[in-house]
Amino acid sequence: MAGKTALVTGSTSGIGLAIASGLAAQGVKIMLNGLGDPGEIEALRAEMARTYGIEVLFDGANLLRADEIGGLIGAIDAKLGGVDILVNNAGIQHVSPIESFPPEKWDAIIGLNLTSSFHTVRLTFEKMKTRRWGRIVNMASAHALVASPFKSAYVAAKHGLLGFTKTIALEGAEFGITCNAICPGYVKTPLVEKQIPDTAKARGMTEEQVIRDVLLAAQPTKEFVHVEDVAALAVFLCSDAGKAINGAPMSIDGGWVAA
Ligand code: NAD
Repeated sequence: MAGKTALVTGSTSGIGLAIASGLAAQGVKIMLNGLGDPGEIEALRAEMARTYGIEVLFDGANLLRADEIGGLIGAIDAKLGGVDILVNNAGIQHVSPIESFPPEKWDAIIGLNLTSSFHTVRLTFEKMKTRRWGRIVNMASAHALVASPFKSAYVAAKHGLLGFTKTIALEGAEFGITCNAICPGYVKTPLVEKQIPDTAKARGMTEEQVIRDVLLAAQPTKEFVHVEDVAALAVFLCSDAGKAINGAPMSIDGGWVAA
């Protein structure tokens, strides 16, 4: 896949950053995207370009806005020759009982975790079809397959993203394009790490108890998934060896959905 171009959304931290690094290590040109401190993002971008000797650009498009997604794809077309590998990874979460779930949080979660992928695929698919090669990886979740209470918007968005994945898989199948969903369990990202001390304080537990009995209660290994493991799976799906995997929910959850 060396010489191809990848857009990894939400790649300024966590899973997206690991996937961008994994693809960069294969010689793929990278468009980073996400929110964050401009100085820190520039340092990440420069470091990735230097480490792997490839072109790495950054675009801070807010994926809640269709016009900014259009600008992002236009920038890749102009500067990097179009998107060959699309990783729809950006996502947010909000946890609340349904009766007090803020409607604006519902809209934002559906907007980022589901609708932004519709726009990125809509705007890149034709070029992939013309080239008769493309890889689309949608970052779903174990919550694309099973539910947990108080995560109504997230579970709905991730189930929707899996349905979208299957549809695009069928539309691209005869054009050398694959579209798959990765379904991680709990992954140790800064987002998750930050919750541990607060939850420990709130519940009067040790951090070890929070990890085992709260966060990883549903994950049979009782171990976090690591971002590098998710990245390796994404890279495999994008490789030539992954060409027959299409429309699949790829679980990487320590056995969560087996239970
Ligand atoms: P993270 O918070 O570390 O990263 C999220 C990324 O999305 C960041 O780069 C952030 O800047 C970006 N982002 C947020 N709002 C944005 C917006 N409006 N426009 C553009 N970018 C925006 O989270 P993560 O844990 O790495 O999660 C990445 C993906 O993996 C998400 O889709 C999440 O649902 C999924 N996931 C995470 C876990 C987990 O346990 N961490 C488990 C299953 C699935």
